[in-house]
Formats: sequence, structure tokens, C-alpha cells
Amino acid sequence: MPNPRTVGFKQHERNVFFHILTACNLSCSHCYINPEQHGSQTLPIETIEEWLRLFHDEQKKSNLIFLGGEPTMHPDLARAIKSAQQIGYQSVTVDTNGYLFHDLLGKISPDDAVISFSLDGPNAEINDPIRGEGVFTTCTENIKKAVADNFDVSVIYTVSRMNIDHLHLMPSLLNDLGVKRFFIQVIGIRGKSAGKKKDRLQLTQEEWLSVIPPVAKEAARLGIHVIFPKVFLEKDETFTCAGLAAENFFIFPNGRVYKCPLCEDFPVHSLSIKNNRIINNSGLTEERFFTLQISEGCVMNKLMQPGNITYDKSGHPVHRISCCLLKQEIPAAK
Ligand code: SF4
Ligand code: SF4
Repeated sequence: MPNPRTVGFKQHERNVFFHILTACNLSCSHCYINPEQHGSQTLPIETIEEWLRLFHDEQKKSNLIFLGGEPTMHPDLARAIKSAQQIGYQSVTVDTNGYLFHDLLGKISPDDAVISFSLDGPNAEINDPIRGEGVFTTCTENIKKAVADNFDVSVIYTVSRMNIDHLHLMPSLLNDLGVKRFFIQVIGIRGKSAGKKKDRLQLTQEEWLSVIPPVAKEAARLGIHVIFPKVFLEKDETFTCAGLAAENFFIFPNGRVYKCPLCEDFPVHSLSIKNNRIINNSGLTEERFFTLQISEGCVMNKLMQPGNITYDKSGHPVHRISCCLLKQEIPAAK
């Protein structure tokens, strides 16, 4: 089985993460949505289409991810997906909690979008205390339906202390469900996770490295493509900030646009959408942080979630923390 390969930032791609609403039917314990900072409005379809046009770059491969809240609660999501394709987005993904409101699968075809389901446990006993009662059953039933309807289906598992011990059960579950792509995500200390429980959520390097790569290899052995964050840089690896080296836009319904997801709890967004135009913000924006060089690697990680950094006796960090957007992958073995 090959070792994980780091997926470098791609200069010729643009990723647009579009939160079309912040409402959700669930109330997950680690939800990063923060209506005070992100707004609580549901964008009208006309606005969604205007903003899709604003952020499409025909010179680049433009990838679009619809997010919420729960994006399938938007009654016009199917139209938004088709509009995105007409505008020229080369890939469209819908990140859903699994409820698939408004008969989404009945209104689009498998060529229109990848459906990415969130599950935080391999069974209801682990998943439901995090995501809500009954969620595991609903989500897995809809995964089966999407697979049976020939949709390209992926699953995201957000790892924290609450569920890391059960991650090893995911590969066989995904194999049984027919899922071919698995994203292992690390908990971000944002939104609700930034509360009192944060010290019990974040993982150490030992916890991360002893669990995630072996589970990823097992999933790949079963024919599942696995992607997971780098988090801890090796001594010979270069630190790069995606805010400088890549094009990622995290758009919220109140018109804020961030380039770094770790900044989303604060009004430091580098761009705003006003009157259907993109405005470059001045003053203290996230861009000021992107150029700072520190021995711990990512400045925002050090400021926001330093629980994953350890220091040696002389006060030097044992490892640097990579950009949270830097990924590793292991391709499916068959
Ligand atoms: S499904 Fe997503 S948006 Fe909804 S509560 Fe859970 S994490 Fe938050
Ligand atoms: S997570 Fe850190 S390295 Fe990545 S974009 Fe944000 S500030 Fe830059």
C-alpha cells in the first residue's frame, strides 16, 4: 500500500466554497457556523446566480462546493447546481448532513454534482451524540439511495477526541455502503468547538499519526480514495500558506468572503460582496496574517487552536503546523 502523498496547492484551480444559507435542521456539537459573523439569511436564487458568476474564473478550473447550514434546505439548490454548470464550473459538490431535503436526488442527475455526506461515527452510538438523534440512520439510508441512483458519493468524517477511537470502523462501513471517496477532516476550533470543550477536542501529533494514516491505508486497500489534512509538517517539508499560494474563497450569506477558513469567526475577511461587486477590504484583514513567518508554521493555527502544538525543553516547537488546507491522499488500491 503506498504511503500518503501530499497534494500541493494548484495554481490553475479555484475553489469556491459557497454557504448559500446558514439555517440547519441539526445542531451538531462541533458546528462551525456562526450566524453573528456569517449572517442568518437564505440567499435568493437570483443572488446565488449573480455571485456564482462573480467568482467563476474561466482561465482556471473552477470547483464549486455548496455549503450551509444545510444547503439542501434551500428550495432552489437544484436550479443553482444547473446554473453553476451553465456558468462553467467544472465540478460541483453538495456537502450535506444527509437529509437531502426537497428531493434533491430526484431533481438532478449523477452528472450534475458530487454528493458529500457528513458522518462522525461508524454507528449511531458514536455519530448521534455528536450530530443528533436518528441522524446516522437517515444519513446512511440516503447514502445508499444516492449510490443506488449512481451518484458520485463521498463521506466526510470530522475527527476529534470524541470519535477518533472509532475511525478504524469506517473503512468497512463505507465499503458496505458502496462509497468510493473518504475525506477525513480534523476538528477546527471554531464556532461551537471554540467553547469550553475545546481542550477535549483537539488531537496531538501522536494521536493523529497513530490513527489516521493506518485507517486511510485500510480504506484505500478496500478500493476507497482517501484524502486527509497534512496537519504536522516533516522537518524537510516547506510551509506554504494557501492564502498566498492558492485561490480559495469561502463565501457567506452576509457577503463576507474569506480566503482562510480559520479566520471565519472574526470580521477580518479580505473581500466583501456589495451591490454585486467584489470589494477588496482594507485595514486589518486576514491577508496581514498570511505573510507572517513563525516557527510554529501557520499563524492562525497558533492564534486560534494552539492545542495541537508541542514544544521541546528549549521552547522550540517539536513540529510545524501546515496550512489547514494542505491535504494528503492515498489512491484507491483497486
Ligand atoms: S449539519 Fe453542518 S451546519 Fe448543520 S449543525 Fe451540523 S455542522 Fe452545523
Ligand atoms: S490556515 Fe494558516 S496557512 Fe492556511 S490560509 Fe489560513 S493562515 Fe494561511
